[in-house]
Amino acid sequence: MIRKLAILLLLLAIGYVGWVVVLNLGGDDGGPVTASADRRPPQVAPPASTAPRVAAPPGVLVVPVAGIRPDQLSDTFDDARGQGRVHDAIDIMAPRGTAVIAAAAGTVEKLFDSKLGGRTIYVRRPGGQWVDYYAHLDGYAPGLAEGRQVAQGEMIGMVGSTGDASPEAPHLHYAINAMAPGEGWWQGKAINPYPLLKAGR
Ligand SMILES: [Zn+2]
Repeated sequence: MIRKLAILLLLLAIGYVGWVVVLNLGGDDGGPVTASADRRPPQVAPPASTAPRVAAPPGVLVVPVAGIRPDQLSDTFDDARGQGRVHDAIDIMAPRGTAVIAAAAGTVEKLFDSKLGGRTIYVRRPGGQWVDYYAHLDGYAPGLAEGRQVAQGEMIGMVGSTGDASPEAPHLHYAINAMAPGEGWWQGKAINPYPLLKAGR
């Protein structure tokens, strides 16, 4: 009787250990790819018609700070910036006075001084759907004015730390805003410039 009970307990123990092994195979992200892939719930893609789609602007961008290569950039688009704000831009570190150049061609729509951005430039690209935003500038390039056309790669200002930027860490704050028809320079929806600059020159 005792012998039968012992065998039964042993069988239960083996079964339990086996079950734990199976669970571990499936649940660990570092486990065998096939085991975890089999156990993952199927991904349900949202219907194509309701998925948000923000197209990327056409054309190849130039890194908007002279002398900085695409591989020197880091992605700071999703960084927190206090009071629930996110960055929605890329910061490109460079010594004060370094030339800021137009990432894309367009028309200077607004030269604006703001508390957060400091000295800023808004350039609307041909077609009107995209606005490039340059902030924390130390100054504007001589002759820059609202309504003026700028060519891609043309110097438009100098890197600085005006606005909400540390004087010890001058940088260009660069953003790309997708504009709905009729939206003004202060509006638009930010898209991440990082992958576009990374693929640029
Ligand atoms: Zn920034």
